[in-house]
Amino acid sequence: MALKTGKQYLESVADLKLEAHMLGRKSGDLGEHGLVQPSQKAVAFTFDAAHDPATRDLFCVESSLCKAEINRFTHLHQSAEDLVNKVKMQRYCGAGTACCFQRCVGLDAANAIYSTTFECDQKHGTDYHQRFKDYWSWIQQNDLVVDGAMTDPKGDRGKRPKDQVDPDLFLRVKERRPGGVVISGAKLHQTGMLNSHEILVMPTLTMRPGEEAWAVCCAVPTNAEGVRYIYGRQASDTRKLEADPLDVGNPFGGQEVMTVFEDVFVPDERVFLDGEVDFSGTLVERFASYHRQSYGGCKVGVGDALIGATALIAQMNGVAGASHIKDKIVEMIHLNETIFSCGIACSATGEATAAGNYLVNLLLANVCKLNVTRFPYELARLATDVAGGLLGTMPSAADLNDPVAGPYIKKYLAANPDFPVVDRMKVLRLIENLVAGAGAVGYLIESMHGAGPPTAQRIMIGRQADLEQKVARVKNMLGLV
Ligand code: SF4
Ligand code: FE
Repeated sequence: MALKTGKQYLESVADLKLEAHMLGRKSGDLGEHGLVQPSQKAVAFTFDAAHDPATRDLFCVESSLCKAEINRFTHLHQSAEDLVNKVKMQRYCGAGTACCFQRCVGLDAANAIYSTTFECDQKHGTDYHQRFKDYWSWIQQNDLVVDGAMTDPKGDRGKRPKDQVDPDLFLRVKERRPGGVVISGAKLHQTGMLNSHEILVMPTLTMRPGEEAWAVCCAVPTNAEGVRYIYGRQASDTRKLEADPLDVGNPFGGQEVMTVFEDVFVPDERVFLDGEVDFSGTLVERFASYHRQSYGGCKVGVGDALIGATALIAQMNGVAGASHIKDKIVEMIHLNETIFSCGIACSATGEATAAGNYLVNLLLANVCKLNVTRFPYELARLATDVAGGLLGTMPSAADLNDPVAGPYIKKYLAANPDFPVVDRMKVLRLIENLVAGAGAVGYLIESMHGAGPPTAQRIMIGRQADLEQKVARVKNMLGLV
């Protein structure tokens, strides 16, 4: 049942009967919920693209595990070209949805777990790698959406997991039962969790001897007993509930939750790390680097949408020919393509792991993400500048349709006569969504904190840059001792 369509995906996720705590009540059917529908639509986009003749070749690939044709969103990268194609695919999805399409976290987790379990088995004689291969082959053949869950609540940041007042502040193995383990804890900021079939739980940091209980990696179905979801609010999220799509701005959207694991039983065949503290850091570092590469595609795609909307609103305002406007749009393109260059560079220079799948260039992936913590903010500033103040003061769709207010809005918001006023309003609402509304969660806050905050990238850059070699070369060049 490989290669689901968007419709088949939506049916399969509805079959899970997931529910969330949402604005003080139980959500009911998520597929019918206005706050979740836009995000499910964004995930469905990744399935439909595998059937679209224009994008099929980019999205479809042969599995290294089961040899079937699969969606690239479940692929274990077999070459640097695969890594490059991943970034191109993400850019395409970002440009088509102007939001987080949520499906890359599981892909990045899978590639990190695949190589880490192989190396862990070699050292410790465990059998995690075969377990993971069996599991992931099933994911590929059923074209499932998997959420990678890494970020623990972390409690007092100055204390280690075992020193917290509540040991659940880092997700842990709480109990052992015949045939499996019981996990307890929570994962925060879980993108797309409500739209996923499975969860790959990973440790959040490098664990030390004595912290074995927290060095756990495992797979859990999203509808497993004991798993609860608490919806995370976004700026202007209830705009998604507006009857008129004009006020919504973007028909697509991301979505995050807090996920609670209350004594969840995980059978042995779904456990991929259990106490091997020396591999927790490897897993974290690889997952984070893959996801930092991912931002070199997805955020660039959203940037494409913002640049397109900015150029269009400039035409609608009648200022497209002004030199300072052209210059600002070129600046936006330059920033966006700089991010893309990093995404491509860290992919093209990726190398095979001992397990055989390809890992990104860690230094360049971190440079990529560090740029992402800055450039989308500058793109948003330039878009706000070009769009004009109406971005923050525009009347509603209901007023546009009002028999008294409507004619005034049409009269006084008319600009370039080649464009209807309502179209001008639609473009402004999309820009508003991305720079200040619900879309800014994905485009700005997530650009800062998703895949780790800037300090995490600086630490990795410092570690990977081989400064000593640069110093040695200068010494050598100058004949110093
Ligand atoms: Fe994919 Fe980007 Fe969303 Fe992460 S933030 S899941 S890379 S779209
Ligand atoms: Fe993300």
